[in-house]
Amino acid sequence: MLRTIDSLGDLKGKRVLVRSDFNVPLKDGEITDDGRIRAALPTLTQLVDAGAKVIIMAHLGRPKGQVNPDYSLAPVAKRLGELIDAKVSLAEDTVGESAREGVSKLNEGEILLLENVRFDPRETSKDDAEREAMANELAELGDAFVSDGFGVVHRKQTSVYDIAKKLPSASGLLVLKEIESLSKVTDNPERPYAVVLGGSKVSDKLGVIANLLSKANILLIGGGMAFTFLKAKGYEVGKSLLEEDQIEAVKGYLKEAADKGVDLVLPVDVVVAPEFDKDATPTVVEADAIPDDQMGLDIGPKSQELYAKKIAEAKTVAWNGPMGVFEFPNFAGGTRAVAQALSSGDAFSVVGGGDSAAAVRQLGFDEATFSHISTGGGASLELLEGKTLPGIAVLED
Ligand code: ADP
Ligand code: MG
Repeated sequence: MLRTIDSLGDLKGKRVLVRSDFNVPLKDGEITDDGRIRAALPTLTQLVDAGAKVIIMAHLGRPKGQVNPDYSLAPVAKRLGELIDAKVSLAEDTVGESAREGVSKLNEGEILLLENVRFDPRETSKDDAEREAMANELAELGDAFVSDGFGVVHRKQTSVYDIAKKLPSASGLLVLKEIESLSKVTDNPERPYAVVLGGSKVSDKLGVIANLLSKANILLIGGGMAFTFLKAKGYEVGKSLLEEDQIEAVKGYLKEAADKGVDLVLPVDVVVAPEFDKDATPTVVEADAIPDDQMGLDIGPKSQELYAKKIAEAKTVAWNGPMGVFEFPNFAGGTRAVAQALSSGDAFSVVGGGDSAAAVRQLGFDEATFSHISTGGGASLELLEGKTLPGIAVLED
């Protein structure tokens, strides 16, 4: 059982460190999707209302352990201040003088956001002692710890994992809700259980398939990784995304799926274009007839229909990764078809992955028509794979 905020007792006047996931997309210093900040509000509001002094730890991007103003949390502090009814200030550092002074000046119900935890190389260090040293410094700033950054709970990092061992700790409302929803999929899903996988992180996600082959009944493959599968079947894939060094492994997955009776479905047709461009001319070709000088940017109309039919057969569906380059309207059809099938179907449906969730919103679907839209990409995938997440295990009694 996950410990909840209630287990921390009366928080009035207490300094509560919170890990939030504020890793939002930025363009020219402006936040383009504040979904993650909004997702953090229930926990922060509860703490503010309880009269806690709230100190938030978060990261933005990959500054690789160096202070870099491009990755400052300043835009986040500003947006958070607009969204929440509480005073929000930003420290100039994470565990330095500015952070300590900011904490000492906090009044009940006020929020201090510490600067990007990844400006400190110890945050993501593989060396336990380095992370622990930073955790000790952070622990001096607070009396309790609330873990609410679901997007990072699969990381064994200082502000996620080590700090939980230094202070009385509990899960926030977002982490609780994510785990409740995702466990409906991971523990005894109602069958048939279908998993739809796409996106562009081909090598990351290929590994996931090995685990899913012993869990899912139906596996629908789209996005960039589909082409490594088509190649493994002996088809040519032109200029499409391809992981040459994974072809042998994928042949193994195809065989294993057949042996285990998993319905592993690949695109039967593909939307191709001569280049990766919004205005590139789209052409539909059969999956075994991709021209040399073209690249696959979406699954084709016959595949869309096939995937929608398979999704309709399932009682539980997990989806991670767009079926095509949905950012370009000409190549959004596959992603739209999958979103439509999940949205209008009766299955318990979970969407994970930053871009998949963004696609659902951008294509105009009502988020409420999905059972759960996860804020975590990697974290939700690792749960679907059946892994134990360090940032969750540390909050369990
Ligand atoms: P998520 O964030 O949902 O986990 P990923 O980050 O793995 O998903 O991948 C999302 C990206 O994958 C999108 O930006 C989309 O344009 C891209 N993508 C999907 N299909 C293809 C394809 N066939 N070729 C290249 N990129 C693709
Ligand atoms: Mg992504």
